[in-house]
Amino acid sequence: MSRIVALLCLTAAAQVTPVPDKFYFEEGKIRVLILTGRNNHDWRSTTPYLREVLQSTGRFDVRVTEEPSGLSAATLKPYDVLVSNYCGPRWGAPTERAVEEFVSGGKGLVVVHAGSYPFGETAVLSERMGRTGVYQKPWIEWGKMVGAVWSDKEPRTGHAQRHAYQVSWEDKEHPIAAGVASSFLLSDELYHNFRLKPGIHVLATAFDSPKIRGNGKQEPLLWTNAYGKGRMFHTALGHDLDAMRTPGFTASYARGVEWAATAKVSLPALIDLNPKNRDAVRVLLVSGGHDHESSFYGVFEKWRDIRVNVDPHPVAFRNDLRKQYDVVVLYDTIQTEALPEKHRQNLREFVESGKGLIILHHAIADFQSWEWWWKEVVGGRYVLRAEPGYEASKYLHDVELVATPKPGHAITKGLPQMRLFDETYKQVWHRADVQVLLTTDHPTSDVEIGWVSPYQNSRVVYLQPGHGRESHEQPWFRQLVRRSILWSAGR
Ligand SMILES: [Zn+2]
Ligand SMILES: [Zn+2]
Repeated sequence: MSRIVALLCLTAAAQVTPVPDKFYFEEGKIRVLILTGRNNHDWRSTTPYLREVLQSTGRFDVRVTEEPSGLSAATLKPYDVLVSNYCGPRWGAPTERAVEEFVSGGKGLVVVHAGSYPFGETAVLSERMGRTGVYQKPWIEWGKMVGAVWSDKEPRTGHAQRHAYQVSWEDKEHPIAAGVASSFLLSDELYHNFRLKPGIHVLATAFDSPKIRGNGKQEPLLWTNAYGKGRMFHTALGHDLDAMRTPGFTASYARGVEWAATAKVSLPALIDLNPKNRDAVRVLLVSGGHDHESSFYGVFEKWRDIRVNVDPHPVAFRNDLRKQYDVVVLYDTIQTEALPEKHRQNLREFVESGKGLIILHHAIADFQSWEWWWKEVVGGRYVLRAEPGYEASKYLHDVELVATPKPGHAITKGLPQMRLFDETYKQVWHRADVQVLLTTDHPTSDVEIGWVSPYQNSRVVYLQPGHGRESHEQPWFRQLVRRSILWSAGR
């Protein structure tokens, strides 16, 4: 009996059904595997950037391995191109064979900065620009793929002082260079005295100035190479994040990855990491009168469909806002007397003109004596001092509460109930006819903590959460604010 079970298990193990890669990759995108995790450079900060650049273009599906040693033909198989941000010890024969076969079989390889250094005759380098003192037997094929190796013999391969310099494209016809400016500026190391292999195709060079103890030559920095049926793109640039976060590095790298993978380039000459849609909602964010953490501004970053300018009151309202903005977001605290009559008129004309208005958190206490504002426009007021008919409102910091979105509105559609750590308000006056968006049952808070005002001329939203970093950094809160802006702009 037990022999039969064992046999069945063995048969089952031998027949594990393969699952196609397509279930795990984005359709139609170039599949990139970045090799990193050991480098004398700060790979911990540069690798995320190398990934982000590619992801931001929408052209690539990117994975990262921090332990390239042990990769096999099977693990490399789904990918179109490897990006090496690696400068450490050898990977071992099975992995090295797999990489050789991957590239020679017709796929791509991209080598960034110190990625050209390892596997040669020079000593293995360690973290933080250190030396291990260990010499390993060279992996000859790596040098053949890269098209260059380093040498400790004179003239030594290396670089003079890091400085700012121009990189000039030499072959403007090549797909990686076509359509881009003839040169670009960056601050980087300028590698010199590579031992180049015959057959490489130099794309860009820079002058290694004797003024910074360079060799006085025009040094090749970007080049391509063929290895079997595969394509290799090498960039000597990218010493650190400052070198990488320049338009010249970013575009040449991304275009080089696309070319190595496909032999073509469709990416633009400039890669915008924070692109805005042409029809992005134009938002005026008004601050002032209430301190807040700088994390607040992160709420508005990275959205393609909103473009935000910040201006403090009262100067934010000095001009007619109707032409310049679609939505005003108030995250300020200001009283009526502090806003000159003309400024108040501009604000009034804006909200009467069919635009959008978002009242965030403490801005519910604005303009206590401007009754039209809080009664008609906002539909509510944090009552600073008790007055006949209005109890004083109260606040409490650092409350853990549960916020429940009300379904049935575009702003809250599909948003789950959420745990917040925020400030609560109690006894905030609001009109009975507001359309409630958010509720909580926390005893220190009012039930209604977000609403749409019944005001007819413009779309007005109030959101009570948003005191500090915990909410500012929460994707749920950011989405809530973004949706409120889009909805109030009529999108
Ligand atoms: Zn470097
Ligand atoms: Zn607050």
